[in-house]
Amino acid sequence: MNYKKIFLKKGKEASLQRFHPWVFSGAIAYADKNINEGEIVEVYTADKAFIAVGHYQIGSIAVRVLSFNNQTIDKAFWIKRLNAAYQMRKDMGLDYTDKHSSFRLVHGEGDFLPGLIVDFYGSTAVMQAHSVGMHLHRAEIADCIVKISEGKIKNVYYKSETTLPYKADTGAENGYLIGSDSDAVALENGLKFCIDWERGQKTGFFIDQRANRQLLEQYAKGRRVLNMFCYTGGFSCYAMRGGAACVHSVDSSAKAIDLVNKNMEMNFPSDTRHEAYAQDAFKFLDQMDENYDLIVLDPPAFAKHRDALRNALQGYKRLNAKAFEKIKSGGILFTFSCSQAVDKDQFRLAVFSAAAMSGRKVRILHQLTQPVDHPINIYHPEGEYLKGLVLYVE
Ligand code: SAH
Repeated sequence: MNYKKIFLKKGKEASLQRFHPWVFSGAIAYADKNINEGEIVEVYTADKAFIAVGHYQIGSIAVRVLSFNNQTIDKAFWIKRLNAAYQMRKDMGLDYTDKHSSFRLVHGEGDFLPGLIVDFYGSTAVMQAHSVGMHLHRAEIADCIVKISEGKIKNVYYKSETTLPYKADTGAENGYLIGSDSDAVALENGLKFCIDWERGQKTGFFIDQRANRQLLEQYAKGRRVLNMFCYTGGFSCYAMRGGAACVHSVDSSAKAIDLVNKNMEMNFPSDTRHEAYAQDAFKFLDQMDENYDLIVLDPPAFAKHRDALRNALQGYKRLNAKAFEKIKSGGILFTFSCSQAVDKDQFRLAVFSAAAMSGRKVRILHQLTQPVDHPINIYHPEGEYLKGLVLYVE
């Protein structure tokens, strides 16, 4: 362990003593010279006691902690952390079966690997770096992913062009670190999904809604379902299997609508209950009739940063108000927010305001969150991002 050193201002070690995995730049008193972005550094208190080792980055989060032990960050370290992540998924019943071949292996801070996302889709792992440190370690991490996967992963696709800090100018390019183009169909609870990690959003699929889709399946029977912001049609496929009378999927992206239609054709060939529309959600809600009795609202993050919070809350209120206005009596509304900057209470207040505007009787049936393969490190509450409410509307 001969990493460069960073020394904190007096008292600034408190959050690290509580295992919070970030060091903010304002907490640093002084540091060794010439620390490169992405380099591994050791962090010391003002009293020169070791407290953490992590990736250095220029910006308000200066260090992302990899370990609170004074250890070398080498292949053995990555293997251990990745194995621990895989073991937790297995312990929770998530692994490859004949019905299932997709889950998130690594969820950043939630798996004690800040800045790293890894999703498994069949024989391909899609890896995303959100920190320069993880970017620099990409080749070593990709090797380790294959090693711990017990022969399941043959390809590792790296997709960090848009997730790395723009100013770091890493020149990162999306592409295969290991293997090459492969079968892009993954199974989720027996349903087939075509996953386009090269051109699709995020790593290609929204794995985080898996458990919430299963819940929706239970309520779909005989209902007329509207899936707004459907992307690849995850909720739509579960609604079809649940016996919905009809399922309408809406997304403003024509590419997403192509994927929904492809997924439907794979799972429910020639089933005329489903129709997809490439349209703006707000326009669709304005123009639609009042015939739906199960509506899903799963919009993209309205607030990517804290300064966008006010507008985001207005956005959630406006969107939900339209659904409350039009949903049939006895209808069920699944409404979500994936904005990290919006907390549970703020989201609930926005939905509450929308309900009040409609004057309808509304009851909360379920309060939803992210699934087990998107764990929240208890010392890093910022990791909680997905919030959902299931509402019964009279
Ligand atoms: N529910 C999806 C994930 C939704 S991601 C799932 O389970 O997989 C958000 C989606 O909203 C994206 O596909 C994006 O194309 C779409 N979108 C963004 N703005 C929109 C708008 N104004 N109207 C309709 N769709 C929109």
